[in-house]
Amino acid sequence: MKINIIGAGVSGLTTGCYLQMNGFETQIFEKHSIPGGLCTSWKKGEYTFDGCVHWILGTDEGSSFYKMWSELLDMKNIPFHNHEIRMDIELKKNVNKYGEKIFHLYTNVNRLEEYMLDLAPEDEIQIKRLTNSIRVMQQFDLPPVMDDLPFIQSTIRGIKMARYLKFLYVLFQWRNDTNRTFAQKLKNPFLRESFELLYDDQDVNMVVMTMPLASFDKKSAGYPIGGSLQFAKYLEEAYIKLGGKIHYNTPVKKVIVENDTAKGLLVRNNVSHYSDAIISAADWNWTIFEALEGKYTDKKIFELKELKKLKVFYSVLQFSFGINKDLSDQPHFSRFPLATPILSPDGTQYERLEVHVYNYDPTLAPKGKTSVVVSFYTEKADYWIELRKNDRPKYREAKKQMLETITELLDKRLGGIKEFIEERDFATPATYLRYTNNWKGSTQGWLPGENLIALSPVKFTLPTLKNFYMGSHWNQPGGGLPIAISTGRDLTKKICKEQKKKFISKKVNP
Ligand SMILES: Cc1cc2nc3c(=O)[nH]c(=O)nc-3n(C[C@H](O)[C@H](O)[C@H](O)COP(=O)(O)OP(=O)(O)OC[C@H]3O[C@@H](n4cnc5c(N)ncnc54)[C@H](O)[C@@H]3O)c2cc1C
Repeated sequence: MKINIIGAGVSGLTTGCYLQMNGFETQIFEKHSIPGGLCTSWKKGEYTFDGCVHWILGTDEGSSFYKMWSELLDMKNIPFHNHEIRMDIELKKNVNKYGEKIFHLYTNVNRLEEYMLDLAPEDEIQIKRLTNSIRVMQQFDLPPVMDDLPFIQSTIRGIKMARYLKFLYVLFQWRNDTNRTFAQKLKNPFLRESFELLYDDQDVNMVVMTMPLASFDKKSAGYPIGGSLQFAKYLEEAYIKLGGKIHYNTPVKKVIVENDTAKGLLVRNNVSHYSDAIISAADWNWTIFEALEGKYTDKKIFELKELKKLKVFYSVLQFSFGINKDLSDQPHFSRFPLATPILSPDGTQYERLEVHVYNYDPTLAPKGKTSVVVSFYTEKADYWIELRKNDRPKYREAKKQMLETITELLDKRLGGIKEFIEERDFATPATYLRYTNNWKGSTQGWLPGENLIALSPVKFTLPTLKNFYMGSHWNQPGGGLPIAISTGRDLTKKICKEQKKKFISKKVNP
């Protein structure tokens, strides 16, 4: 059976790998000249600027996601870096008992507990409530690999799954707690402000903090040395090794449909490529409303389109700098308050600056030099997208001015780096849209809903359309690379089932 796939992002590549493993003949059509989609980095002069991965879930041997990644990648030979501190948050108002205004969010839960207890013994009950929840979460490996098993093994697995009730209980306990409501329960002013500022200006459910911390402590959320594009290239290599074929620089224009059955893809220069089934691993909105002209929809799809059920994940403004200076003494990830807030042309006001110093990845800059990234999330992606479309000179001018502002602030922060800047650039939501087609420049598909229940808003299939599937980070709120690979795997299982084939997964690099 021949299957054409749209998009060589992590979803398209992993779907392609699993399909190839199961005897399907696939080819991927990618509009860009490189693999990875959002999982990317780019070169400027001697520097590599990374536009994606800060951590990938499943980098510790033994976890379900590690097992999954290991099916496609030689995980033992990919160096992952695990940070001791997740982030340094500089406070505006308070200092701790040592006169320091920086809160260190340690990744080791024992160290974090010790640190917080030392600073705020009066908050022992809340501190331990938090750290103990992280420890409970650590005992559970989410999501478990749910391959079909023979009856006895699946019964045993079912019994074991009952343990997950404890995990659900922890989730339930934190269901109404956000970082701000948790902060209100703290007596110590330093700790209280630290938790208030945990997500900058946002109020986020505490589970969003505790789940990653549970993974960081287990070294299950590492950063791949070499950066995001290199990581995508490992997947590209696996796909090609499995016999897959990628057509780069080949944007898909339309899905060819006859009698409500997907038949092929119409690509650049109006060339048609026919196949027995089509998978779109590209953007949700583009697939349904452009490639299929909105002909296969229902009430639920329109509710999503009108953003009634979920919001689109934020887009990002990324400022990248290549600095001819050794910045190994700088924290790798910090957020600090600004004396004067920055007003972005899109109307968003930023009161803090978030800086990533890639001093832990020697592949991104020559020795003695450093790649640095400043980024801001924005909900106003449409402003940048429309500005670029309708007024290119004004767009360029807005970019130039903002890049100057950020350069000045970074210069102050890093103690006079301006004269050492050799390369710099600024990627806006319009850049993300242009390179990856993601609706509203979204970085991770849908934003998880407030209730945190993992809805599956996007189904693998569309109403009444045969031989057509959708599988990307848009299939589950929160997106990210683990969702991309598990979507590819689950979609392959579905197709195998429909074709009455037993799904198999084997290691590409045994
Ligand atoms: C700044 C940033 C930081 C992030 N940090 C992390 C992190 O630390 N950890 C993590 O797990 N995730 C992170 N993510 C999210 C993660 O990168 C994405 O969720 C994931 O890469 C999405 O993969 P995907 O294949 O589903 O979609 P995409 O990457 O969007 O891939 C879709 C592909 O389809 C192609 N395409 C689109 N339209 C067409 C067309 N018409 N014809 C042909 N090809 C087409 C695109 O070019 C692209 O290659 C981050 C993302 C960003 C932007």
